[in-house]
Amino acid sequence: MQLRYNYRAYPDAAQRRALASAFGCARVVWNDCLRDRKQAHAAGLPYVKSAALSRLRITQAKRTEERAWLADVSAVVLQQSLRDLDTAYRNFFDGLSGKRQGRKVGPPRYKSKKDTRQSIRLNTNAFCLRGDGTVYVAKVGNLAVTWSRRLPAAPTSLTVTKDSCGRYFVSFVVDTEPDVLPELQTDAGIDLGLSAFAVLSDGRKIGSPRFLRRAEKKLKRLQRELCRKAKGSKNRAKARIKVARQHARVADRRRDFHHKASTQIIRDNQAVYVEDLAVSGLGRTRLAKSVHDAGWSAFVAMLQYKAALHGRTFTKVDRAFPSSQVCSTCGFRDGPKPLHVREWTCGACGTVHDRDHNAARNVLFEGRRIVAAGRAETLNACGAPVRRAPVPAQRGEAGSPRKGQPTQAGIPGL
Ligand SMILES: [Zn+2]
Repeated sequence: MQLRYNYRAYPDAAQRRALASAFGCARVVWNDCLRDRKQAHAAGLPYVKSAALSRLRITQAKRTEERAWLADVSAVVLQQSLRDLDTAYRNFFDGLSGKRQGRKVGPPRYKSKKDTRQSIRLNTNAFCLRGDGTVYVAKVGNLAVTWSRRLPAAPTSLTVTKDSCGRYFVSFVVDTEPDVLPELQTDAGIDLGLSAFAVLSDGRKIGSPRFLRRAEKKLKRLQRELCRKAKGSKNRAKARIKVARQHARVADRRRDFHHKASTQIIRDNQAVYVEDLAVSGLGRTRLAKSVHDAGWSAFVAMLQYKAALHGRTFTKVDRAFPSSQVCSTCGFRDGPKPLHVREWTCGACGTVHDRDHNAARNVLFEGRRIVAAGRAETLNACGAPVRRAPVPAQRGEAGSPRKGQPTQAGIPGL
């Protein structure tokens, strides 16, 4: 399976300048090609082929005066930008024709200099891992990288990113074999919620860390300081970085928490069942901020790829399944209960239920039923096969790397 490994990079001043121009050139090629296709579409002309665009907007554009600077960056970066645009169009068309399942994808949009995330993508022709632990990027140089964990195999592609608070990252796509863990007899149903982040069917509770809520006071102050600064001033730019850094901290903490919790659950259980939540719907209610702060979708996605990676079963239970209405002891359907009811007594058998624990047990039984009925666990909520897109690999898991595992590919001495 394909995994994405992410590392922090520390380019020097000259490399930062080279990267800035590479980000810019990739963006210009994307926008030029997108404009050509949009104009052709508006004029009723056929879809412009990428070979024609490559010739016109990359090869020939380099020879014109107004785009001469495209020659300063690696051609691979420019070609990849065009290829990414093709992918964006293909996803859009496949969504229209019904070939692509799930939520509809909009048409590609123009990129802006002010986008919070700037990136370039390279294939193996334009980067390599050096013996001294740096990563060579064509026309940029050798980037210093902190290897927070080992790469399990030689990478097939590289993305260099700059985020909104000015941090640089290199991320590699690596094709690896699944690391199947020894088989267990345990399985778990999981109820995701707001009062507790997750309740497992064995009664374990994972508390809700509420990272955004905790950082809110500071964020408010920083945001207030930002909006008082004059537009276009240096102080405003500084204040913007401060806000971005605080947001990044919240996101980093949340991701770290998700990784730890999901790894623990996947290690402890042979099969994991989760209720398929309508997060985008809940995100439009009064609970929106808390719902997004919890980040259920990211957590469930981690459970899913880690299950695939470690040979575990993962199944989503239909969101129409009444997990909080049914008594998990006798199966009596007690009817809907308002959210504030945390505990209730079954009208048929008299069992006193904790709302979330009961729901988790119901998810467990329903998940077992689905698996026993033989519905493949590799199907996602919409019944579409899970795409083979690269999934983010875990950052620096405690205790790894284990003995007998391959060392970092291509980086001797690490
Ligand atoms: Zn009952």
